[in-house]
Amino acid sequence: MLMEDYIDKAEKVLMHTYSRYKILLDKGEGVYLYDMNGKKYLDFAAGIAVFALGYGNKEYNNALKSQIDKLLHTSNYYYNVPAIEAAAKLSKASGMDRIFFTNSGTEAMEGAVKLARKYFYKNKNFAGGEIISMNHSFHGRTMGALSVTGNVKYREPFEPLVGGAVFAEFNNLDSVKEKVNENTCAIIVEPIQGEGGLYPADSKFLIGLRKLCDEKDIVLIFDEIQCGMGRTGTMFAYQGYGVKPDIITTAKALGCGVPVGAFAAVESIAGAFEPGDHGTTYGGNPFATTGVSKVFDLFQSENILDHVNEVSGYLEEKLEELVNKYDFILERRGKGLMQGLEFNKPVKDTILAAMDKGLIIINAGVNILRFVPPLIITKENIDEMIHILESCLK
Ligand SMILES: *Cc1c(COP(=O)(O)O)cnc(C)c1O
Repeated sequence: MLMEDYIDKAEKVLMHTYSRYKILLDKGEGVYLYDMNGKKYLDFAAGIAVFALGYGNKEYNNALKSQIDKLLHTSNYYYNVPAIEAAAKLSKASGMDRIFFTNSGTEAMEGAVKLARKYFYKNKNFAGGEIISMNHSFHGRTMGALSVTGNVKYREPFEPLVGGAVFAEFNNLDSVKEKVNENTCAIIVEPIQGEGGLYPADSKFLIGLRKLCDEKDIVLIFDEIQCGMGRTGTMFAYQGYGVKPDIITTAKALGCGVPVGAFAAVESIAGAFEPGDHGTTYGGNPFATTGVSKVFDLFQSENILDHVNEVSGYLEEKLEELVNKYDFILERRGKGLMQGLEFNKPVKDTILAAMDKGLIIINAGVNILRFVPPLIITKENIDEMIHILESCLK
């Protein structure tokens, strides 16, 4: 069957929840992807900030292959070695004491919200904890995560949502303080807003939130699903700010391709959960956690963080050059290898032109190009990307 025929078939059998680009990806190698016709693309999207290690890492692939032959699934009624090792490594990397593995980012958010609510319930002896989240935030598509997502367009058709969520202005501490009352149980923030347009939090804002949460015994939740796992030059973005949350959510690059997420908490909060409070059939299964465990090993052996810090300044520099050169590009924003370029017009045509010329790049909102490449990207790859992108801007 031809690529076009598969795409036609897809449009018949898949639900219409995406306007997909008309290419069918078939194979990956390093930082390059190939479509069904063998056309090569430089990948600056990494499957939405997922494939940190690039495609076809032998050690990673072999670890998964041997786990497939050994044991794929156990359920959480029993222990398994990969989950224990992965949890210990994530705990060490995140500075959090206890880990719960999920199958996705949105489920990690569900768990984080449930844990904050349970903490409130246990302390106050009544339910009804309220959650403050940020405008323009994105936390996922399931009902709980959607309820705290600061984008009306995503929420409205699905109301009534989970109650008790209110929204404040990102990077505006006073706006958060105005929403706090004696029932506030959690504040949720992305240290760098991803889908919302690549807005990094101000240091002052996060420090202020930490202080506020300490004073009022509110659980501080950082959604690090996109900005975590080395993308901004520290294992988790909070470490670059020096502001430690009580709960972290992670997913995307956590498994580098296996569907997995996690929420992780400090002991004083995690202790609110008792057996029976939360669960999952697949979450933390030996297949997914073999991937997680190997990802942490490879981050170390391949010095991923050093590499990110080495190349991300170069990416910023090159993007700034574009801002200075083209008057329709308004601003560069972001941190590390999580960057955005804001245009004064929609970027869709630029994305399509780039794809035509062999560059995969995505947007974040209508006017913003998003750069979330595999973390193993080199300066040469960045030059190649800029070269193709510029040929689409002229
Ligand atoms: C992608 C994302 C999610 C949702 O993760 P899924 O795995 O798609 O459910 C939540 N929060 C942030 C910040 C994200 O980038």
